[in-house]
Amino acid sequence: MVTALSKLRKILIATQNQGKLREIQSELAGLSAEFACLADLPSLAEVEEIHDTFRENADLKALYYADLTGLWTLADDSGLEVDALGGAPGVFSARYGGPDCDDARNNAKLLAELADVPDEKRTARFRCCLSLAADGKIIARSEGILHGRIAFSPQGHNGFGYDPLFYVPEHGCTTAQMSPEQKNAVSHRGQAIRAMKQIMLTEKLL
Ligand code: IMP
Repeated sequence: MVTALSKLRKILIATQNQGKLREIQSELAGLSAEFACLADLPSLAEVEEIHDTFRENADLKALYYADLTGLWTLADDSGLEVDALGGAPGVFSARYGGPDCDDARNNAKLLAELADVPDEKRTARFRCCLSLAADGKIIARSEGILHGRIAFSPQGHNGFGYDPLFYVPEHGCTTAQMSPEQKNAVSHRGQAIRAMKQIMLTEKLL
């Protein structure tokens, strides 16, 4: 019997963040695809995230790298929205503490901004938007949201970014106190990736 050899689709995951890359690759395992990342293509110029929504920035990155490389490209944009701050830091999550900020400064600024805000008003969510681009257009989109509250002090050492301050009432801990597996199972990014995988399978994109 002669079996047709199926060629795997190559998908570029448009992130520099190795943690995100591992997470996306492990969630998408089992698809008829092989993956590349931006570190495999170091000569590509970066694109500036100029928009004021996660969705527009994810579309922008996916279309930009798909156009540059000719590869199907999966891009994400994510961040923290705090109700008492009118949705800030939002798309500025990574640079909330200023031009040379790091996670510690971002978290310190967040705590300072919320100093007078009582527990019940410290509601917040992590949001992740994923966009898949091919041949000059977006062919799939997904989104994930994790609801929680901003704690009064950092708790836990896992994860990154705002994890030590992001308390999830249903789990009784911050996302920095969860194991990577526990966090992936509930996180905004985990939800968005699993939804994207489902779309790829049900719409037979691969
Ligand atoms: P980006 O999606 O890489 O642009 O990430 C934006 C920023 O949002 C990160 O630098 C973090 O500050 C924050 N962020 C996004 N996802 C998470 C998360 O899962 N935990 C903690 N912080 C996050």
